[in-house]
Amino acid sequence: MLRQWGGIVDICPDASPIISKTHIKGLYFNCGWGTGGFKATPGSGDLFAHTIANDEPHKLNADFNINRFVSGDLVDEHGAAAVAH
Ligand SMILES: Cc1cc2nc3c(=O)[nH]c(=O)nc-3n(C[C@H](O)[C@H](O)[C@H](O)COP(=O)(O)OP(=O)(O)OC[C@H]3O[C@@H](n4cnc5c(N)ncnc54)[C@H](O)[C@@H]3O)c2cc1C
Repeated sequence: MLRQWGGIVDICPDASPIISKTHIKGLYFNCGWGTGGFKATPGSGDLFAHTIANDEPHKLNADFNINRFVSGDLVDEHGAAAVAH
């Protein structure tokens, strides 16, 4: 069964997640975790809560903003990803 799984994986172009406020007031994203979302839950949840509570990112997730796909300041994790995407 493990060798037959098929489906989509919510991976970003730079293989890093999005933990970010958006230009829409009250809309925040925590997504794009690929195959790492379970183990990242404690850390990402803490940073996401901080981002929502303060309407500003924590310094640890500032680089994981959604605008990086416009600015080009990508966080390239393809080499470090545990699995090929
Ligand atoms: C094959 C595979 C293996 C993985 N292995 C690991 C692993 O070993 N370790 C690890 O840490 N992570 C792993 N992950 C990653 C982990 O599963 C995800 O990162 C995590 O589940 C993402 O959680 P989430 O709550 O952000 O999104 P999801 O769990 O995708 O939850 C999103 C929810 O929103 C619902 N939804 C979607 N659209 C709508 C809508 N319009 N209205 C209402 N509801 C909607 C969906 O039905 C779903 O319930 C794996 C993922 C895959 C696919």
